[in-house]
Amino acid sequence: MSQQSSNDSNNSLIEDLCYKKLITRPLVKMALLNVDRGQYAPRDAYKDSPQLLSHQSTISAPHMHANAIESLLPYLLPKTESEQPAEGVDEVIGVNGRSRRILDIGSGSGFLTHVFAKLAGDTSIVVGVEHIEELRKLGEINMRKSAEGAALIDSGRVRFRFGDGRNGWSEPSLSDEGVKNEDGGWDAIHVGAGAVKLHDELVRQLRSPGRLFIPVAEEDNDWFSEQFIWTVDKDEKGNVTKTKHYKTQYVWLKNAPGGAAFCG
Ligand code: SAH
Repeated sequence: MSQQSSNDSNNSLIEDLCYKKLITRPLVKMALLNVDRGQYAPRDAYKDSPQLLSHQSTISAPHMHANAIESLLPYLLPKTESEQPAEGVDEVIGVNGRSRRILDIGSGSGFLTHVFAKLAGDTSIVVGVEHIEELRKLGEINMRKSAEGAALIDSGRVRFRFGDGRNGWSEPSLSDEGVKNEDGGWDAIHVGAGAVKLHDELVRQLRSPGRLFIPVAEEDNDWFSEQFIWTVDKDEKGNVTKTKHYKTQYVWLKNAPGGAAFCG
C-alpha cells in the first residue's frame, strides 16, 4: 500500500481516502473526520504519507491508519445492548456487557489511540504504550490539543503508558479511577511498529474473541527482511487463526535507545 496524494484539510484527506476506497466503512469515515490529523502530525498533516515525529518515530500514513482501524473495527465498536450491529456495521463481535479494552502498542503521535477511543464508546478503556518517554508524553500532549481529547484522558478512558510493547501490557485496576475494570486482556491489540517475530505474549493477552493487528518480519528475527501485516484472531473458544496480509514497511518494534530499559 503506497499512496501519496496531498490535501489541504482533514476533510479533503478523508474524502480522498474514501474515493480511493482506502476507507470503506461509514463509521471509520465519521471517526476520521472527527479526529483532525493536524492535531497529531507536525507537518504535511493532510498528505497521505508518514511524517517524522522524533526518535526516528513516524506518524503512520493515513491509508495505513485507515486500514488498521477497518481491520480491527468489529473488536473496537461497543457491543450494543440489543446485540444488534450498530448502524453501518456488518458485524459487532464482543462479549455482552463487557466494555471494550484496546491496546495501541507504539502509540507515537497518539492519533490512533484517539480514534480507537472514539469508536469504542463511553465505557471503553484504551491504552497507548510507548518505550520512549518523550513519545509517550507526545501522545498525551497531542490529544490534549482538543477539549474532547483532553476529556478522554481526564476521564481515565485513555491512558498513555511507558513500557516495552513486546510484552503487551497489563493495566492495573481501573476501578479507583471511576472506570469499570472488567477482567484483563484486550479485545483489540494494534501494533504500530514492525515486530521481528509474532510475539506469543501478545496473542496470549487477546480476549476470546479478540484480534491482533501487527506488522511482522518475513524472516524470524531478521531486521533486514520484508514486513507483512498479520492479523491474529482468537475466537470465543480460544482457537487462534493467523492470517498474512500485504507487504508493508513500519519502523521496527525494538529496544529503547540508550540502554536496556526493559527486558525482552
Ligand atoms: N501509531 C503511531 C506509530 C508510531 S511509529 C502513529 O501513527 O503515530 C512506531 C512507534 O513504536 C514509535 O513511536 C516507537 O517509539 C514505538 N516503539 C518501537 N519499539 C517499541 C517497543 N518495544 N515498545 C513500545 N513502543 C515501541
